[in-house]
Amino acid sequence: MTKEELWQAVLAQVQLTISQANFATWFKNTGVVSKEGSKVVVSVPNSFAKEWLENKYDKIIIKILRSLDEEIKEVKYAVGKTELKTLKRAPVSLPEAGQLEFQEFKVDKETNLNPRYTFENFIVAPFNELPQAAAWAASKNPGLVYNPLFIYGGVGLGKTHLLEAIGNEVIKNFSQKKVKYIPSEKFTAGVVTSIRNHEMESFKSKCREIDVLILDDVQFLAGKEKTQEEFFHTFNYLYEKNKQIILSSDRPPKAIPALTERLRSRFEGGMIADIGYPDYETRVAILKAKSQEREINPPEEVFNYIASNIQRNVRELEGALNRLSAYQKLQNRTPDLEAAKSLLKNLIVPPNKVVTIKKIIQVVAEFYDLKEKDLLSSSRRKEIVNPRQVAMYLLREDLKSSYPFIGRKLGGKDHTTAIHSYGKILKELETNENLDNEINLIRQRIFSI
Ligand code: ADP
Ligand code: MG
Repeated sequence: MTKEELWQAVLAQVQLTISQANFATWFKNTGVVSKEGSKVVVSVPNSFAKEWLENKYDKIIIKILRSLDEEIKEVKYAVGKTELKTLKRAPVSLPEAGQLEFQEFKVDKETNLNPRYTFENFIVAPFNELPQAAAWAASKNPGLVYNPLFIYGGVGLGKTHLLEAIGNEVIKNFSQKKVKYIPSEKFTAGVVTSIRNHEMESFKSKCREIDVLILDDVQFLAGKEKTQEEFFHTFNYLYEKNKQIILSSDRPPKAIPALTERLRSRFEGGMIADIGYPDYETRVAILKAKSQEREINPPEEVFNYIASNIQRNVRELEGALNRLSAYQKLQNRTPDLEAAKSLLKNLIVPPNKVVTIKKIIQVVAEFYDLKEKDLLSSSRRKEIVNPRQVAMYLLREDLKSSYPFIGRKLGGKDHTTAIHSYGKILKELETNENLDNEINLIRQRIFSI
């Protein structure tokens, strides 16, 4: 069997198990690029299709492949062109599905900014009003108000969008200003390479020419001492020259582990604004605004359905709309509630199914920069005791685990310790806003892994 025949055979069988619409959406322009030993590489037309095949159809595909060729053990999906005409009886001629509209935007080589992120298309609501206002002010008076501006919040809630919007706005208003957007991992990589190639001086001087420095996701500087040191000097240099520094993180400076004290105090020295979570009404409003952008117009009940079921962040709301938009293009029909339910099936998972003990322990340990085994141990070290109490609280609150179980699991304690810990955190949450934030961030991560 040639690889073309193999894939035709797979398609023929897949077609029997899924709806025609799904088949046409996700399997159009797919093909087998290679088959070497036990590994098959399937090409897909875009990353949207890749994600779907990986998450939703991988099991079926591998099962069918194996039934055709026992040797096959593994399937990989790669975005790329395929010459193969795989869909012989395509029901309709299809436009490319998915998020493709956005890929027209080109990241600027000088600034690293993506022009798709602007203030104009950033939706302002109570959950992000303050950071948006601060960002707007900074873009109008770079270096003069709120320096540094530190924006934090959970994943997919608009930090990068807001940071880049500042950069794009500055460029618009002050064309002579040098703006640079740098993800923190990239900054770290820059430091490492410069050290290796003995180019530290030129790296330094490049950083120091910048008028508006935007460093995204600074939590990734945690533990990177050399990078922190370099950044500390760059920070001071720019700051003293009244250059604007903008930072983002998934948590407040205080909660970033392994950050040198002097850098932490610099981060805390300006304006700190956090992005919260959009409430139900806001989620509906975001969905409506973004539907207009995508030129889809589903009925009200579809918006309500998505807003009640997708609560974690804006990125996921967008993901849902992208699916509806692909459907609309393909079917030439506005998605109704039934279609929406079926299209979003694998995005919408009841939250109580997502949380597991393992995840809580893993995320709490990561968040506080501890080892899981420390959390599970009976150690009474202060830096372990608090995180352990947070883990106990989450086990009780989100999993309804029994106190004896919680006590046993975490530190081999009895139920009274678990009750005490749960009560302590509960009480502290009434007054300690930081703790409340931390727990929200932890939950956010538990949901997102
Ligand atoms: P983060 O950096 O916090 O993880 P992003 O900035 O990457 O989140 O946002 C995720 C997606 O959601 C992006 O496509 C972004 O454009 C969109 N988004 C987030 N917040 C908003 C908002 N307030 N208005 C419009 N789009 C938003
Ligand atoms: Mg981001």
